[in-house]
Amino acid sequence: YAAKHTNRSVVLFDPQLDNSTPMRIAVLSGLDQAIAEHQLSVAYQPLMQTSTGQVAGFEALVRWSHPEFGELSPSEFIPLAEVGEGIRKITDFVLRSTLEYLVVWRRLLPQMHVAVNISPRVLLDHDFPNRVQALLEAYNLPGESVVMELTESTLLVDPVRAVEIIHSLSALGVKVEIDDFGTGYSSLSYLKRLPLSALKIDRSFVADISSDSHNEVIVQSTVQMAHNLGLQVVAEGVEDEATLLKMMRLGCDMIQGYYFSKPIPGDEVEEWLKRNR
Ligand code: C2E
Ligand code: MG
Ligand code: MG
Ligand code: MG
Repeated sequence: YAAKHTNRSVVLFDPQLDNSTPMRIAVLSGLDQAIAEHQLSVAYQPLMQTSTGQVAGFEALVRWSHPEFGELSPSEFIPLAEVGEGIRKITDFVLRSTLEYLVVWRRLLPQMHVAVNISPRVLLDHDFPNRVQALLEAYNLPGESVVMELTESTLLVDPVRAVEIIHSLSALGVKVEIDDFGTGYSSLSYLKRLPLSALKIDRSFVADISSDSHNEVIVQSTVQMAHNLGLQVVAEGVEDEATLLKMMRLGCDMIQGYYFSKPIPGDEVEEWLKRNR
């Protein structure tokens, strides 16, 4: 992948995604119809708080069930949608679906939150904090019920505007976390300037922690730095008990991964919560 910087966004260019792939055509032309026809949905993956062993919240992960191409993976279609306006439509859909569910779920688990992935183009829209505020008001939800997950590269696209917008979101009570921490190209200086609530350690450092001693050093140092900066740490991609115990011993505050649960269809979360509360 080569990162191509423009004034609006960092576009990850993958030479394999040439213009003629059916997927690309489907994504770039069929999104409105896909939303109208309910091909898009959101799956929710639980986050476990290590101090209590309880569910703290969920991450919202978009799904696209295409009538022709079957289940499309977000890691395939999100990069395509990020190049154009499509990502705004997808994020709008994810936010609306999520807030609608949150109203119901918070009756069962009052303090819970849902984390939503936010791409550069979406974050850097001047209107974004206003749209988030309007949505929160429409659903009568507090800002703290929503977490925005940003990657380090998102902060690089237009750092000045990113700082401004993140402060506006923070003023609404909305929490902001760094996703895939440790895999971006950015310096750590943003950690001093931004009102962040957590760092989410990338799966690549978590998955083979038992076999790779460097990963353990990286996780341990990240936890120490984050805690000294007053930030929480989330470990993503925990698939087995050994990794869970290691992440707990290293001080991670929240755990996400297949060990607890794969992402769950939105309509099944209420039942899941009743069983696992
Ligand atoms: P991400 O934000 O880092 O999300 C975590 C990904 O890891 C998800 O993949 C999740 O299903 C997967 N995962 C969680 N636990 C485990 C585990 O224990 N083992 C393994 N092998 N994988 C695990 P998913 O759902 O395919 O999403 C891939 C990426 O697509 C996300 O990575 C995120 O960058 C992007 N994405 C998904 N939904 C959205 C969205 O609504 N908006 C935007 N902008 N990006 C999204
Ligand atoms: Mg994420
Ligand atoms: Mg992640
Ligand atoms: Mg990731």
